[in-house]
Amino acid sequence: MTSMKNRSGLTRRAVVVGGAAIAGAVAGRTFLMPSNHSGPVFPASAEVAGSGATLLNDASELSPTPVIRHITVRQAPESAVIDGLRAAIAEARAEGRPLTASTARHSMGGQSLARNGTVLTLDQEWLEADTAARTYRVAAGTRWSTVIARLDAIGFSPAVMQSNNDFGVASTFSVNAHGWPVPFSGCGATVRSLRLLTADGSLVTCSRSDNADLFNHAMGGYGLFGVITDLELDMVPNTLLAPTFERLSGQALGQRFAEALAADPSIEMAYGRMDVSLDRFFDDALLITYRPVADQSDIPPASGSGFMSYMARDIFRAQLGSDGVKHFRWWTEAALNPGIAGSATRNSLMNEPVITLDDRDPSRTDILHEYFVSPSRFADFVEACKEVIPASYQQLLNITLRYVDTDRDSVLAYAHEPRIAAVMLFSQEKTMRGEADMARMTEALIERVIAVGGSYYLPYRPHARIDQLTRAYPRATSFVAAKKAADPELLFRNGLWDNYLSKI
Ligand SMILES: Cc1cc2nc3c(=O)[nH]c(=O)nc-3n(C[C@H](O)[C@H](O)[C@H](O)COP(=O)(O)OP(=O)(O)OC[C@H]3O[C@@H](n4cnc5c(N)ncnc54)[C@H](O)[C@@H]3O)c2cc1C
Repeated sequence: MTSMKNRSGLTRRAVVVGGAAIAGAVAGRTFLMPSNHSGPVFPASAEVAGSGATLLNDASELSPTPVIRHITVRQAPESAVIDGLRAAIAEARAEGRPLTASTARHSMGGQSLARNGTVLTLDQEWLEADTAARTYRVAAGTRWSTVIARLDAIGFSPAVMQSNNDFGVASTFSVNAHGWPVPFSGCGATVRSLRLLTADGSLVTCSRSDNADLFNHAMGGYGLFGVITDLELDMVPNTLLAPTFERLSGQALGQRFAEALAADPSIEMAYGRMDVSLDRFFDDALLITYRPVADQSDIPPASGSGFMSYMARDIFRAQLGSDGVKHFRWWTEAALNPGIAGSATRNSLMNEPVITLDDRDPSRTDILHEYFVSPSRFADFVEACKEVIPASYQQLLNITLRYVDTDRDSVLAYAHEPRIAAVMLFSQEKTMRGEADMARMTEALIERVIAVGGSYYLPYRPHARIDQLTRAYPRATSFVAAKKAADPELLFRNGLWDNYLSKI
């Protein structure tokens, strides 16, 4: 941290005022709640845990779900632990209960919850790196904070992860999450192999050469094909990166993002931002690209959150209902920050917990949306957002843009071609009115995104119509058929299955 101060005059978190912290303002408090937390949930009276059940929730705070069995696993994936998981599977199966694995439960529509079933919380810290092969093995429930800490110490960095460090590695594979590293596709593209417990208790190794079909269904498969016990992933050298800021119109951002990456393979990380103030909605944009600095001899350790992040939180939260504050924040991000931001390591840029910008207001919750459109249709997407979002009651506090390359593996792929990912963070009132308005707006946005050939992300709120899911994910029907063949008793079930895939 000290050395970063010397480099830039501020901690590297000054950069992150416009960085990862903002992508992840959600749900730190939910993550910190005990698993049997019975605090405010929505709708307040709709869900009560029956006798012997625990009420679990996810990051939305809107998915209270009664669970019969909640098992937390903290140990390395050794044979005794695998036998324990196998026993949990056998018990759920014998009792006809659904089972779902999870880590941080930052998905937002019950994707990590099994109603009246068994929920496994895998919260582990096991990692073994192979520097010669540039790979590492992790327990399924190892969080990215642990991965970064361990790899940082040996000069390496995860190839692809999300922009926050709280999430589990198997969860990341199971939603096929993506982040700022370029020019990659989702995290799944950097997974070499994994071991998965199937419904009959078999432990199966899957990769692109062994059980490839299972591998491709499990990648972005939301745990519906089994419980992943451990994975082997690519790692890359940790590097010291300097940011370049380019200001442009919102309409131009998508094309420019793709062009910038195509023109310069030295870019290692990149993201975009747009002004969210209502009177200039998405008019102005910023593209931030990171390239290695010439001198890589003094790479500081991955830093944690700094004072600037917490100060950024106050500005971030004060945006609620205030275009004046939104203008100020955009000025800090687009005018002030480019002049003061210094270099940061790849690991530091990704090492941000979601709690940094946590919303401490119990009457509201942060809800993420994410849409994927081809760079050539990005301007149409901006037009659609201009028409749909400001007309709603929802408060958009942030949008971050990323680049996701073609997904060549997963069956439920959201990027059949290179796409710009638009991650939006809304602050939603926890009322029936707020929920109904969010549902209406989400459905309208998804319709407009599909109309420009795009798709939407599945780990968030279940507001899409079923026909919207099947249009955005053309292989959903074959995914469901393969699921029924692999798991005929439908042991592995969760909110995504119950709300959508079971109805296809
Ligand atoms: C603040 C915030 C920021 C985010 N930023 C990004 C981002 O930058 N990029 C991005 O792509 N996504 C992002 N997301 C979405 C995020 O990647 C997913 O919600 C991810 O699933 C979170 O990890 P988790 O450990 O909380 O998963 P959980 O919600 O616990 O689980 C997610 C899914 O994985 C399955 N699963 C978990 N463990 C296993 C296992 N061992 N075996 C089989 N299945 C398993 C679960 O059943 C569930 O379906 C963000 C979400 C939030 C709330």
